[in-house]
Amino acid sequence: MNKILIANRGEIAVRIIRACRELGIKTVAVFSTIDRDALHCRLADESYCIGSPPSKHSYLSIPQLMSVAAVSGSDAIHPGYGFLAENHKFARVCEQYQIKFIGPTSKHIKQLGDKLTAKQLAKNEGVPLLSGSDEPLHTFEEAQAAAKKIGYPLIIKAAAGGGGRGMRIVRSAKHLQENFLTAQREAETFFGNAQVFIEKFLTSPRHVEIQLVADEFGNAIHLGERDCSIQRRHQKIIEESPCPTITKKIRTQLGNAALKIARSVKYISLGTVEFLLDRDNSFYFIEMNTRIQVEHPITELVTGIDLVKEQIRIACGEKIDLKGSNFQPRGHAIECRINAEDAITFAPNPGRVHDFHLPSGPGIRIDSMLVKDCYIPPDYDSMIAKLIAYGNNREEALNRMRRALQEMQVNGIKTNINFHLKVIDHPTFRKGDISTNFIDELLSTSK
Ligand code: ADP
Repeated sequence: MNKILIANRGEIAVRIIRACRELGIKTVAVFSTIDRDALHCRLADESYCIGSPPSKHSYLSIPQLMSVAAVSGSDAIHPGYGFLAENHKFARVCEQYQIKFIGPTSKHIKQLGDKLTAKQLAKNEGVPLLSGSDEPLHTFEEAQAAAKKIGYPLIIKAAAGGGGRGMRIVRSAKHLQENFLTAQREAETFFGNAQVFIEKFLTSPRHVEIQLVADEFGNAIHLGERDCSIQRRHQKIIEESPCPTITKKIRTQLGNAALKIARSVKYISLGTVEFLLDRDNSFYFIEMNTRIQVEHPITELVTGIDLVKEQIRIACGEKIDLKGSNFQPRGHAIECRINAEDAITFAPNPGRVHDFHLPSGPGIRIDSMLVKDCYIPPDYDSMIAKLIAYGNNREEALNRMRRALQEMQVNGIKTNINFHLKVIDHPTFRKGDISTNFIDELLSTSK
């Protein structure tokens, strides 16, 4: 592989350029008109404008991306996360034009990207699932029948959903109809697929996910778990590895369950298998992500493996290093997603960053898109940086994170840095006694 086109922007485009540089591979950046001066364009060897700011005219435009790949002579495309990263049609077009898609095959993305088909696959492998409707529900009557079997509370989800959108929690029968109809409408609008299904809703689980690495020779290993329970509106904002309460036995069970799913389809590349872990340590598969995750750096810090380089090497047809199969996490890592948002309403707060200071020192890593006077556009995700802290144990990692959050400054826009500080120092969080409700509970008590 000589040249990789990065079909993305922001911190992940920068992260991929760094991996390519270290591997001696040339990079091609793409940008919408509003991102002309963005960091990823400055760092890449070449950069090309692919359209106007709305994603559908630029970062989601398959014809534009394929044209740049041809003109620049790129032999591979890295999709990053978001945008086209889990679009099986894009992966298929790359396959047809013999441009390597750095990820799994289009068939894998299709099989595993749909939550319902992925759940069916998991079920066939004996991986535990929450009770739910196995088929998509088309009418309210079908939803009613399924709800009767499953019981309340339940959650309605879009089969093609992602990014925490397209989900509705229903706590009693009288709210089923309105939520079902809205969920169907939203699924069609957001994901172009009206299929929805119902699943039992767990009231205070942890979100625990397993990082998988698999090559085309049938080797697959897992690199332990990430606890991503600190979420707002089903979107992760703080992640850590290892999970503070998990035993070695549960880690092995989760890892084996994730590997069963990957092996059943002869999966290739990086992948993340997501589970909900209940109070009694029972766990349930919820979905698989067939791409690099936002939170991959925490796994990199506790394993010493550069996941993006590994992903590129696998796409080049190399074998994975099986030493990881005896995986034991080393130390503790935590990541805070720094978003351009209002501290009270959490609404995105785009604008120009006049000045900033990024923390450093022992155990601190920053993956960011910030440069002086950069503009954070309203058109894309509001995450501007990932602040990652590593320590010999959880306490050291958290103390380093606190110190780094205190050092960090971003002037010109509002950010959630102070909100992170509140979480990091919260006694319940410090104890590791968290669930996906943590933020809602914190906000309701601080009102
Ligand atoms: P997405 O693909 O949009 O990220 P997921 O299926 O991964 O959606 O779920 C995102 C989050 O929503 C989970 O981490 C969890 O907090 C919540 N969630 C999803 N399903 C359930 C469920 N059955 N019970 C409780 N919480 C759930």
